[in-house]
Order: sequence, then C-alpha cells, then structure tokens
Amino acid sequence: ASGCVILNGYVEVQEAQMQRTGKQLMLERPSITAAGLDKTGTLTKGEFAVLVVQDFAPKSADSGRVDPLTLAAALEMKSAHPISAAIVSKAVGCVGEAYELAQLPEVKKFRVLPGVGIQGNVSSGTSFAQVLVGNKRVLEAVQADPSAHSKFSNFQQQHPDDTTVAVVVNGTLRLGLALNDMIRGDAELMVRELKALGCQPAMLTGDAEAAGKHVALSVGLNPASCSFSMHPEEKQAWIQQQEDSGKSVLMLGDGINDATALAVASVGVAMGETSAALAANSADMVMMTDKLGRLCRYAIWIERANIFIP
Ligand code: ADP
Ligand code: MG
Repeated sequence: ASGCVILNGYVEVQEAQMQRTGKQLMLERPSITAAGLDKTGTLTKGEFAVLVVQDFAPKSADSGRVDPLTLAAALEMKSAHPISAAIVSKAVGCVGEAYELAQLPEVKKFRVLPGVGIQGNVSSGTSFAQVLVGNKRVLEAVQADPSAHSKFSNFQQQHPDDTTVAVVVNGTLRLGLALNDMIRGDAELMVRELKALGCQPAMLTGDAEAAGKHVALSVGLNPASCSFSMHPEEKQAWIQQQEDSGKSVLMLGDGINDATALAVASVGVAMGETSAALAANSADMVMMTDKLGRLCRYAIWIERANIFIP
C-alpha cells in the first residue's frame, strides 16, 4: 500500500498511476480509532549506547580466539538495525561513522531474524564461529549450557530499563549487553494528542517487557495495553484484530519487523529517513521528519479529511 509522502509539511502523491489526487486519497481514509506504535526507532531515537558488557563464559573457554564482542560487531556491521552502530562502536572503540573503516572479521551466511536479531558465520583465522546476536530468543540455539537462560534472565533483571542483547558463539552464551536508547522528546506529546483525537494508542515492540514498560510509562502509555517480545507476524495480527473489530488503525513504525503491520493498517506511517526500505515501501506515508508531534496534525487531517495539507 503506497500513497503519499509527508515531506516537511507537504504531501506529495507518490504514485501517479493511482490516478487520484492526494485530496481524494485523504478523503477515502476512515477515521482512526486505534494506533499501534513501534518502540525502537519510533518512540525512541534508536541511538543506542552499550552501557554494560557481561562476559558469561570463563576466559579459558575460548582462549586464542577472536573476542566475542568483535564477532558480534562483525555481524552488526551487516545489519541496519538501530542497535548495530552501538555494538560496532563499542567493539572498535570509536564513535560515529568512523567505525566504517574498522577492520572486522569476514562474515558468511548472514541472516536477519526479524524481531529477534542476526546470525552468521564469522571467520577467525583458519576456523569460523557461528554467531547469533539478539534478544533472548537467540538462546534457543544454545545447547551447550542449560543454565544460559537463567543467566541471561538474571542479567535482564539487573538492567530492567535497558535493552538487553545476548551474544551466542558456537552454541554457547558468551556475552550479555545492556544498551540504553533515548526516548524522543515529543513522543509523549504525540501520545497525548492521539488520545485527544479519540484514538487508543498502544506500543507494539519486539523488545522485552521490562525495557518496553519503561518506555511506555515514560511516554504516557498504559503498559497493560502494550505488547512486548513481539514477532513481526504478531504485530501484523494485532493490527488485523483491531481492524476486524471495526476499528481503523494507524500503525507507526520504522523496521523490517513493522513492514506487514504497516501494510495491513488502515493508515501505515513509516518513520522518516531512518526507516528500513521495506518499512517505507509497505507504508502509506513516510514522515520526512522525526518530529513525532507532527503526526497527530496529519492524523487530524486524515480524520477530518476535508483539510488538505498545503
Ligand atoms: P521494536 O519492535 O521495538 O522496534 P525490534 O523488533 O527492532 O524492536 O527489536 C527487538 C529486539 O530484537 C531488540 O530489542 C534486540 O534485543 C533484538 N534485535 C533485533 N535486531 C538486532 C540486532 N541487529 N542486533 C542485536 N539485537 C537485535
Ligand atoms: Mg523499530
């Protein structure tokens, strides 16, 4: 579903072949009564910093091999997730774009696990390591250490407000990373304005419950109406369920894990320049700004339908 682009206060009709004016497109939009809001990169800036690196495996277990943070960084170099830059920066000891020049081991068979993390084989000398980086679901690949699940959940409990990431190397939990993100300054304003529009907002996140609740409370969302540790298809099912119950749903998201939810929502809006291409292509609109406060003004425009963006 692709329609128009919100560009610094202007709407541009994207598809000439739709043979509709932007105004007609807006008039056909139903009133929005519910909103699904992605967390990472949407309510938050997606600008992470690694605060804690916990080593779970004894030093001797992997002596002589590449350190697990470097292995994780080699994989993250191939990922466009907001978490990636923070992990690479931590591993190579520099911030900003400078890490692009960093020499990291070669990666083969790289795969994105949407809403979970990433995996791949990282060459280290003559051997290679199978590496997984992501949320607790990557621990399903851990066979070597049955206590890995409790170790990681203890780590999560120690860092309740942070996004926690596990690094699994050759079937062993090696690292726990705690990262913090920044909540967007006007996320709370957007939530307030959505409510004022008669629209029930809920956060839909692939992140764990503790970190999700922290953001929900900070922006004025009721955690009881939010959903955590969601797979992409669960986000889509949430939207579909709301639509089936007669609501018109606005979905706001940035990631590949939001793409199908954006596509099934009455109005799918992708975050501006930072959105994954798949998300932007699945959305009806792309916000060409990261000012969330603007969304509601567009939502009002969509709802009232008789006011067209200049
Ligand atoms: P949200 O739905 O809030 O935008 P995502 O679905 O993008 O969050 O990510 C959910 C979780 O999956 C993250 O909090 C992280 O634990 C894990 N994850 C996803 N991609 C990566 C990655 N490239 N590296 C590490 N962890 C990742
Ligand atoms: Mg996201």
